[in-house]
Amino acid sequence: MAGGLKLYNTLTRDKVDFEPIDPDNVRLYVCGPTVYDFAHIGNARPVIVFDVLFRLLRHTYGADKVTYVRNITDVDDKINARALRDFGSQIAGGSMSLNEAIRAVTGPTESQFHADVAALGCLKPTVEPRATDNIPQMIEIIQRLLDMGHAYVAKGSEGHEVLFSTASMADYGMLSKRKLEDQQAGARVAVENHKMNPADFVLWKQSADTEPGWPANFTFEAKTHAIYGRPGWHIECSAMSDRYLWEEIKDRLSPKAKAKPHQFDIHGGGLDLIFPHHENEIAQSCCAFDNDLMATVWMHNGFLQVEGRKMSKSEGNFVTINELLATEKFGGRQWPGEVLRLAMLMTHYREPIDFSVKRLEEAERLLAKWPTGEAGDTAPDVSVLEALSDDLNTVAAVQALHALAQAANADPSKLPLFAASAALLGVAPKKTEVSDDLSAAVQALVDLRLEMLKAKNFAEADRIRDELGEKGIQLRDGKDKETGERVTGWEVKR
Ligand code: AMP
Ligand code: ZN
Repeated sequence: MAGGLKLYNTLTRDKVDFEPIDPDNVRLYVCGPTVYDFAHIGNARPVIVFDVLFRLLRHTYGADKVTYVRNITDVDDKINARALRDFGSQIAGGSMSLNEAIRAVTGPTESQFHADVAALGCLKPTVEPRATDNIPQMIEIIQRLLDMGHAYVAKGSEGHEVLFSTASMADYGMLSKRKLEDQQAGARVAVENHKMNPADFVLWKQSADTEPGWPANFTFEAKTHAIYGRPGWHIECSAMSDRYLWEEIKDRLSPKAKAKPHQFDIHGGGLDLIFPHHENEIAQSCCAFDNDLMATVWMHNGFLQVEGRKMSKSEGNFVTINELLATEKFGGRQWPGEVLRLAMLMTHYREPIDFSVKRLEEAERLLAKWPTGEAGDTAPDVSVLEALSDDLNTVAAVQALHALAQAANADPSKLPLFAASAALLGVAPKKTEVSDDLSAAVQALVDLRLEMLKAKNFAEADRIRDELGEKGIQLRDGKDKETGERVTGWEVKR
């Protein structure tokens, strides 16, 4: 590979040279949304951050050499609660089944999420599996864990459960650096009697009639346990990452990758997922597949905060992506998706972001100074590439991009270089389409202004510029390279 990509690895707590197991099949998994409600702009952060990583990997290794899996969590107690809240009377009255009510919650939420992240300029992941389409894969992994002595069946207050036995894994806690002994000694959560260890977590739990469930038979201690139930929180990501990053593509992997079965390159998500979610994914996958590592590199984005507190549904301090794009809830106006995207990238992904109107305005001002153009076959500039290759330093990349924008504004032959570099960040400004009539009218005023400038009638030239500005037309003055004369381009302000 060119460049030398370095990434901060949460597992080792340092920046490492990124070397994919198989450079022809770079494999990335990111935990996706739970589709019970509109995504808020904190949720947008990992989607944008890992979209930049996806773009960089595609550029570095080849667009068809990267597999990016981001799941949709469509089975979760929050979804269930929302279905009962919104459709409880229909379910009670028999006009709707529980599954129909759940689909009525998850379907529109998933569609909204897709529309939101498309507006933020994010590419679609290679695969976007739903948890409920992967139940047999989860059951299979759980059975492996039972067979290998890493799980057990026990009866809790809400019925039978299959639990992961944390004490069965020597290095449980490797990601969060939590020791099992500490968790036992200082456990603030009341020890549930059916658990062998307070840190043990649910792989599968029995469902009541008012809860979604799937039939499953587990064999434990030579007995079959039929547990109509649903998966615990973590097992879906072990199942989906293995299915789409190993099982379904293993035949085409390099011999080196085949020698590291079930392991993939990068796993990402927000900081809050390190414990327990990612820790427990590691426990499940490493134990089920007898591996030291689930993914080589673990990446976590920092929080998007409001007044120093993480934006979250439970804090009630959230603004949805849709509200920001399509309503006047934030700062009394709507904001274009590319402004939100740039505002997010103006801070390094591992740092917290304090989200404010000021930040959006700053991003918007910057974008307004950037030209539009086509990249054609031009490669991105090395300054942007180097910044991103240093653990996704988008702050330095945005600065480098701004310098390229200024160069392109002064010299239109540099436009493709700017456009190709902007595309790597996914912030390529788009030209707003205007009608031929408007175009001709604007051009006539632009030409008139140039004549006024030549005649040194600066007052009239400025008046024309301001008049166009009020109509949303932005002028860009530059110099013709050959004649040295002033040339003026224009575009519709975003
Ligand atoms: P959730 O739907 O809460 O599971 O979150 C989906 C993704 O968004 C996860 O990767 C979370 O870590 C991430 N996330 C949630 N809230 C924030 C926030 N305030 N800032 C950054 N990332 C967040
Ligand atoms: Zn996950």
